[in-house]
This record gives sequence, structure tokens and C-alpha cells, in this order.
Amino acid sequence: MLLQNRAVFALGLRMCSTHVMKGPLMDTARPNSDMSEFRKVFSKAKHIAIITGAGVGAESGVPTFRGENEKWRKWQSQDLATPEAFSRTPSRVWEFYHYRRELALDKKPSAAHLAIAECEARLRKQGRSVVVITQCTDDLHRQAGSKHVLKIHGSLMETRCVSCGHVTVNKRSPICAALKDKGVPDPDVPDAQIPVDKLPRCGESDCHGLLRPNVVFFGETLDSHILTKVEHEMETCDLCLVVGTSSIVYPAAMFGPQIASRGIPVAEFNTNTTPKSEYFTYHFQGPCGTTLPPALAGHESEGI
Ligand SMILES: [Zn+2]
Repeated sequence: MLLQNRAVFALGLRMCSTHVMKGPLMDTARPNSDMSEFRKVFSKAKHIAIITGAGVGAESGVPTFRGENEKWRKWQSQDLATPEAFSRTPSRVWEFYHYRRELALDKKPSAAHLAIAECEARLRKQGRSVVVITQCTDDLHRQAGSKHVLKIHGSLMETRCVSCGHVTVNKRSPICAALKDKGVPDPDVPDAQIPVDKLPRCGESDCHGLLRPNVVFFGETLDSHILTKVEHEMETCDLCLVVGTSSIVYPAAMFGPQIASRGIPVAEFNTNTTPKSEYFTYHFQGPCGTTLPPALAGHESEGI
């Protein structure tokens, strides 16, 4: 098992890279940006794991809520996306998530989403596979056509009942009457202070419990069923792409370096280098919607 000691894998932000062992194949020449060399490796790969982060969604216009300037009212996501904030002020946290749901519902897949989905469909016909392991909570990979998607941070378009635990897909807009036109992000907008019985409630018979977004809040552990699937993919992939992630949100930030430590080629596609770039074989700099389509296009050796 690669993800030893799962108990430590609570979602969190860390700004240093000391938590990951350096791979055995580290050398000073890494990473390189030789696309033709990457394409040769890509043409031989049978099982490709693509780890995606907020940068992919950002190219569709979905805000990342990671930067100093990306606040909702006066808060950053790590102030609101916590179990403590939800239990203290569920109305405010629901306003924040209502705002994010409405934004995400309005967006279309980017060129990067489409390139990944097209690659999966094409390689499937060749008996090869692509899995997307995403930190994004929007639904854009699936909208683009990706079939094999592991959403490690949950989904904005699902709810979970805090009483009975029932999880359900919910794309209603607005999700409940009381949230209609709420969630305006301007800093001087007061809290709507919606009574808790008017917030989204469970539809299971006799439950009527409070619903929460089915996303992993900061400080919460990742879903163990998803983690088991991620472990399997990390152990079996023969090529990994790390796309549009700043590699500072744990535990996802360590997935790429762990795969690299097995001697598997890892290629990073991002607008900047990241704290993890030095662990990877390749780094392709620029918007993912520009760098990814030629990287994942049909190779002459595919024959179809
Ligand atoms: Zn319930």
C-alpha cells in the first residue's frame, strides 16, 4: 500500500515539500520539457493516471479560492470549508457553496477537459486506460465525457445528510428556495442568516436532516473507498500527468511524487513550476488548454 498511515491524510494546505521522500531517480537535469520524448513515452503507456487540480477548472472560469485575492466576502475557502464553520454558521457556509454551485453550473469544459476525455475514449478502443484523479469539485470532467473519474475532494453537485449520511446527486438551481439570489460574494453583503430548517434538508423518509455539500472540508479525511481506488491507480499506472495543480493541497500534492518514486514517468502541466516540479520527469509550462491537447493527441503509432 502506497498511502501508508491514512489517518494523517486530512485535507490541508502545506507550503513546504518536506513531507515527501525524494524519488530514487532524482537528478539535477529534472524536469525537462521535451515534448517529443514525452510523446514516445505516452505512445507506449497502457495505463495513464491524470491528476487534475483547480487550474483546470480555472480555465473554464471556476474560481480556485486559493489565492489571497480570491475571497468570498471577507473569507477564504479555508475559513468557510471546515466542519467547525458549518456547524457554527451553516447558513453562511451554504451561501458560499450555493454561490460556487451556481458558478460551476454555468461553466463549460475547457480545452484541457476535452483533451483528457477524448484521450480516454480513444485509448479505450486500443485496450489502454485513462483515469482522472481530480481535486476539482465541479462536474466538468464528466461533462467533457470522461468516464473514469475519481473525485477525491467530493462534488459540489452532491449533498450528504448530516443525520443519515445519505449522499445524492443534486443539481437543482437554486438548491432550495431560501438560497435563491443569496451567496452574493461582495464584501459588504450581510449574511442571509437563513434559519436552519429552511436550508437544504434530507428527502429520505422520516429523516429531514440538514444536508451539507458532499465535499471534503479542510481538516476532514478523504473518503476511504476513493482512497483505496486511488492507491490501486497509483500502483498500476505506467504514466502519470499532474495537471493544473499548485501541489500545495495535501494529500493530493504527494500523489505525483509517490508515483515518481516508483520510477514511473510523471509529467507536470501547469502555468508555473510548483514545489513538486523537481520530482517529475517532465514539466510543460503554460495554460493546460494549450499544452495538453497536443500532448494527448493521437500518436502515429496508435494506427486509428
Ligand atoms: Zn437524512
